[in-house]
Amino acid sequence: MNKKSIDDYSNLANYYYTQGNLNEAITHFEKIAALNPHEYKVFQSIGVLNYLLGNLKDAEKNFKKAISHDHNNTEALYGLGNVFLKQREIFLAITAFLRCLNIDLLMDKAKRKLDECYLTLNKNLLNNTEYFDPFSESYLSSVYNIRPLKKNITAEKNRYNNQTTNGYFACNDGRTCSFCNGVLDGPIVKDLLKCNTCGIYRKQLFPSKEVVREQLKGFMLSACFDKVREASRLRDAKYQVSILEKHSKPGKLFDVGAAAGFFMKIANDHDWIVDGNEISANAILWCKEKYGLDIRYGFLEEINLPKNYYDAVVLWHSLEHVFNPQLTLDICKEILRLNGLLLIAVPNKYGHDLSKYYEELHFFEFNLNGLHWWLQSYGFEPLEIIVIDHEEIPQINLLYKKSNIH
Ligand SMILES: [Zn+2]
Repeated sequence: MNKKSIDDYSNLANYYYTQGNLNEAITHFEKIAALNPHEYKVFQSIGVLNYLLGNLKDAEKNFKKAISHDHNNTEALYGLGNVFLKQREIFLAITAFLRCLNIDLLMDKAKRKLDECYLTLNKNLLNNTEYFDPFSESYLSSVYNIRPLKKNITAEKNRYNNQTTNGYFACNDGRTCSFCNGVLDGPIVKDLLKCNTCGIYRKQLFPSKEVVREQLKGFMLSACFDKVREASRLRDAKYQVSILEKHSKPGKLFDVGAAAGFFMKIANDHDWIVDGNEISANAILWCKEKYGLDIRYGFLEEINLPKNYYDAVVLWHSLEHVFNPQLTLDICKEILRLNGLLLIAVPNKYGHDLSKYYEELHFFEFNLNGLHWWLQSYGFEPLEIIVIDHEEIPQINLLYKKSNIH
């Protein structure tokens, strides 16, 4: 091995690089690799140069070589993430940037790229032409086909089409509020329609379930790689578990849309027997790895759960994300035992906040009065209503119990 010629090649490569002659710089780095195959850092440099030249396949190959030698090479992981992002392989890019942050929490450029990935995901969702009307017959039948407890699709459709007052929505024109049968106006803000009676907002058109399933399969909350945010989520969960425990001793709990299991983790620490569902496979894996807890994969209506079983069902920042809140609440009521607890946390949004705090993936935006009225119409009895307004976006926490009124 000739140390001197390695240094010479390295100096020459850097010289060509500063002169803007990237191809010549690559040639010299490759000479170093040929002289000493253990100079793995060189592959990272070749990766960067190929990336700059737009040779994405060569860049990918070289970054992978560098990583295969040193799994903690954050610069090569970051480079690989950028290659994936350029190739529009967003979930692979997210995984690479998350790995950077797992190794080095302070790697700001990886955080910025991760934000870019999530923005791209949202844009894809916006531009996707596969939109549908959630109140169309085909949507209703597709929902009810996969729901084992409701076999009679025709009867179900009639129930939606005939105006009823027991909490089910009655609309077939897409302009009737599914919560109170009021009239939807708008769009008021972006694509949000607003009920002129209960004030709840609804997106005019939803992306299809399969699009959402595809887009969210790799989704991770920033709290998964940001210890400060994780601690804040866990603190929030602890507070809300304490609300539950004012009214029930620990029992069986189901978390709808559990994300990475922050709430389940705290409840589990407090001796609750926890269960939950989620559609992000990455979040489920993260939770298993980090907290050792199992989360079921799938939308709530796709999972078979025991009836009259759970002591508590939790919708922690998930009700605003579901396609059909009526169906969701229906299932929550069904799986809860009599006098079981329903805990809901959602943002409390009013008109003036909505354009500033618009969320592409919130299909509904709630307010305290509208939500409270709707829950009561299902026979849930209020136990605690807490408005948290010291945060930038006010939140409401609602605790109800399943009573035998209906
Ligand atoms: Zn309404």
